[in-house]
Amino acid sequence: MPGFSDRDRGRDRGYGAAPRFGGGGGGSRGGPPQGKFGNPGERLRKKHWNMDELPKFEKNFYQEHPDVTRRPPQEVENYLRSKDVTVKGRDCPKPMMKFHEANFPNYVMDVIAKQGWAEPTPIQAQGWPLALSGKDMVGIAQTGSGKTLAYLLPAIVHIQHQPFLEHGDGPICLVLAPTRELAQQVQQVAAEYGRASRLKSVCVYGGAPKGPQIRDLERGVEICIATPGRLIDFLEAGKTNLRRCTYLVLDEADRMLDMGFEPQIRKIVDQIRPDRQTLMWSATWPKEVRQLAEDFLKQYVQINVGALQLSANHNILQIVDVCNDGEKDDKLLRLLEEIMSEKENKTIIFTETKRRCDELTRRMRRDGWPAMGIHGDKSQQERDWVLNEFKYGKAPILIATDVASRGLDVEDVKFVINYDYPNSSEDYIHRIGRTARSQKTGTAYTFFTPNNMKQASDLIAVLREANQAINPKLLQMAEARGGRGGGGRGGFRDDRRDRVGILQ
Ligand code: AMP
Repeated sequence: MPGFSDRDRGRDRGYGAAPRFGGGGGGSRGGPPQGKFGNPGERLRKKHWNMDELPKFEKNFYQEHPDVTRRPPQEVENYLRSKDVTVKGRDCPKPMMKFHEANFPNYVMDVIAKQGWAEPTPIQAQGWPLALSGKDMVGIAQTGSGKTLAYLLPAIVHIQHQPFLEHGDGPICLVLAPTRELAQQVQQVAAEYGRASRLKSVCVYGGAPKGPQIRDLERGVEICIATPGRLIDFLEAGKTNLRRCTYLVLDEADRMLDMGFEPQIRKIVDQIRPDRQTLMWSATWPKEVRQLAEDFLKQYVQINVGALQLSANHNILQIVDVCNDGEKDDKLLRLLEEIMSEKENKTIIFTETKRRCDELTRRMRRDGWPAMGIHGDKSQQERDWVLNEFKYGKAPILIATDVASRGLDVEDVKFVINYDYPNSSEDYIHRIGRTARSQKTGTAYTFFTPNNMKQASDLIAVLREANQAINPKLLQMAEARGGRGGGGRGGFRDDRRDRVGILQ
């Protein structure tokens, strides 16, 4: 494949850049940019609000649709139970089971209609009425649950009810996200739905030139989607402000905390009036996230979709191959030969380190595989380019570090291969969640070596929860460590035998 190789070589020269936050490679937890900001937000002063002086604003726009009002409580209860939705908190409105019940403006409904979706996802069904009623909320839902629209569509309604932006005003809706990839995806959705309503949005993230982002901000945007570091930078430099911000979204809050963004988030939130509406989204609910909710939200309602314990999407077939490090390449080759003979074959291969990602990419391309690599040391421009090549199928194999493990939403990824097992079962769940997006199915293959032994019990718990067959060698490993691996679901289900077979 000379075309690929030439391009790749040219791009290789750009690899030497300093690691950035959001990289997630090297097996580390990413982390905020070290040194770049010194003490981030040092120059930002905590605001002291005099509520009597602040202009009043509206945040409750919810009018229950008659179809929702008429729906018998039993039907509502059955719906919530069947969708595994639980609600905690007072005065939570009833869910809306159909799109028309949300009373979104026509231009929003037109975009929804074009998607051909059957109904709101559970997080939308319960999240929309809550968000529209102006309440603070926490949404705990898996990746791919439809949460972006769960907060963006009510944001559009919120903005439409506020006075127009004036010269020098900052955004009305601020979405904080952990990575550039997620921020860009959210902005794509914001742009798609905002276009018809003439709402402007900007995506503010590090690793890209500041000029265009500043120009957009200065032109006036209703919606700003930002990673914390770059936003702090702009706030300190006075390039934007949060005086008009009344709708705050923290997306993937757990991930932001994992990456060490807590100080930045706190600095940013200090700049926003306390009577704002705050919506926090997270895949998990550990005590650090709960603390954030306690500090930032008022009398909030919490929606959980699925088990509170982070669990894998049940539409994914999970296959674990217990092997040695030296066997991985051979196994990968056999696996890819099989996968590439399938009609739908888009595949992400996860490695632990950036170096391994580069090595594997180089070797595979040398052998003619249509593979491209992505990790946190690559320039933003290159990451965008690689993602597009992958998205549009020009390179159906993406080799990635954990930079791509969360948030990445490429609809037709059919396979995920964990060439290296990740740091935690949580990361495992996020990685394999790149396949089986929006009700589709997918397959995840995982190479699990004796070096990963201490993670065996956690992985078994994830597999059990998702009713997956469990490789006996994995059980043995957990038992050898004195884990809880034994017993339970030991045998392979018949329909899975063949596929498991190739990995034995
Ligand atoms: P998210 O969790 O926001 O990343 O969304 C995951 C995927 O679900 C995206 O590809 C959306 O386009 C898709 N999606 C959003 N809402 C719905 C819906 N009501 N029905 C089916 N798919 C949806």
